[in-house]
Amino acid sequence: MGRFLFSFRCLRLSLFSLFRLLAILQAVQEIGAKMKKQSLKNLKAKAWTVFSAYIRQRDQGICYTCGDRRNWKEQQAGHFIHGKKYPVSYFDESNVHCQCVRCNHFLSGNLARYATRLVAQYGPAILEEIQAEKNIIKVGRDFYEGIILRYSEKTK
Ligand SMILES: [Zn+2]
Repeated sequence: MGRFLFSFRCLRLSLFSLFRLLAILQAVQEIGAKMKKQSLKNLKAKAWTVFSAYIRQRDQGICYTCGDRRNWKEQQAGHFIHGKKYPVSYFDESNVHCQCVRCNHFLSGNLARYATRLVAQYGPAILEEIQAEKNIIKVGRDFYEGIILRYSEKTK
């Protein structure tokens, strides 16, 4: 009888431990999921930071649509096709150029002038090519990791 009580107590104890362990595991899993989500957000932000610096340095701080010249750090990297939800065009070198705040922000990209310059520089097919990149909306973490790696090396 004493032995039975003892093992029953053990069972209760181990069941309790099991539930506690499960709760801890679940909490760890939730934290892990949160961290993974957060780090993708961080990856995207970091990818943009290095890519944007590269673009502004590549264009030597000269605004693509009005010719305004400044230190590249004072300029912005402006898209022809906008939208973070289109990762391929968002990080396409031919879709992003150095722009001044006036053109990029206040003139919403100065897009008529932008299109004219794109066609002159890359040929008439460029507008459709960038447009087509909008079809790809799903990319993995490796896409952003690749951007970070490639453009970290290219920036000063
Ligand atoms: Zn400008």
